[in-house]
Amino acid sequence: MKKIEKEKLLRHLEEKGNLVRLDRARQDPLSVTKSSHLPQEELLLLFRINGDKGVEIRVPEGRGGKILFGVSPCEARAVDLLDLTFLRDRIDPYYKRKREDNVLFVLACNKPRSTCFCTSFGYGPFSGKFGDVFMVDIGDNLLIDPVTEKGSKALEGLELEEATPSDLEKMESLKRSAEGAITTVNIEGISEKLKKMFLDEIWADLAFKCVNCGACTYVCPTCYCFDIQDVERTNWGYRERVWDSCMFPIYSLETSGHNPRPTGVERMRNRIMHKFSYYPELYGEYGCVGCGRCIRACPVNFDIREALETLKEVEVAA
Ligand code: SF4
Ligand code: SF4
Repeated sequence: MKKIEKEKLLRHLEEKGNLVRLDRARQDPLSVTKSSHLPQEELLLLFRINGDKGVEIRVPEGRGGKILFGVSPCEARAVDLLDLTFLRDRIDPYYKRKREDNVLFVLACNKPRSTCFCTSFGYGPFSGKFGDVFMVDIGDNLLIDPVTEKGSKALEGLELEEATPSDLEKMESLKRSAEGAITTVNIEGISEKLKKMFLDEIWADLAFKCVNCGACTYVCPTCYCFDIQDVERTNWGYRERVWDSCMFPIYSLETSGHNPRPTGVERMRNRIMHKFSYYPELYGEYGCVGCGRCIRACPVNFDIREALETLKEVEVAA
């Protein structure tokens, strides 16, 4: 690995412009990384009736990429999961542009929170394979490694020193202590088991205290439910994409008046099934990164780790 003085790197990135320094303590539990790729409100197009010419449509230009500095490994991993939805089978051009333009400087988590359980998903607080550049804070210096070509390009022009054996030892010790602070939930076999649990009574127990506020889905870096709205104005009207939540009663309400998820029980089941059964079935990956944001945001202390432990205990017919 290479190393560089933190301030020197920041000055270099500031010169490039559009630098966003993520302050995890201040922004938690919101995921700025998610909203930088899938904004809470996003203008898709403008429209107006232009006399005899009919409907005129304008698509906004992109605003250029951001350098996101200090992204946590779980947030960067979450962006990889969003790619499966927005870039794999159908390309979403709005998402694609931001994904191509944004540069993710990932910072290893030296001090995970008590709610983190990322190690349950085969990676950890020091995983260096996500985002564009991987960094470890060892004090005045950052150990640094480009992950992608975009990352190497962002570092061009910088003089990087070689990390010393003592720097690497420091990193290993930080890594051991961070990993040791995280509780791992054994989720082996959960997605297969959930397939047999659609009608189980356990969902009512799990949903009992939930007030369907949707906070868990708004802070979740892998949740992407959205609604598209046309807003009429006297001159130009606009079409926008806004975040929605599967925990809201009207999310699944059909025009006929039928609602396939009429109560919180079905909505809780859907939220958990989506992340731990449907996502693995569709993409071969869990739709959760174990960031614990939903645990920190929930007003009634719903803990997804406890829910997974409860689900594991339920006996299902073979
Ligand atoms: S479900 Fe909770 S722990 Fe999992 S990625 Fe979403 S916010 Fe993080
Ligand atoms: S944050 Fe908690 S109460 Fe609100 S919808 Fe999610 S689980 Fe339910």
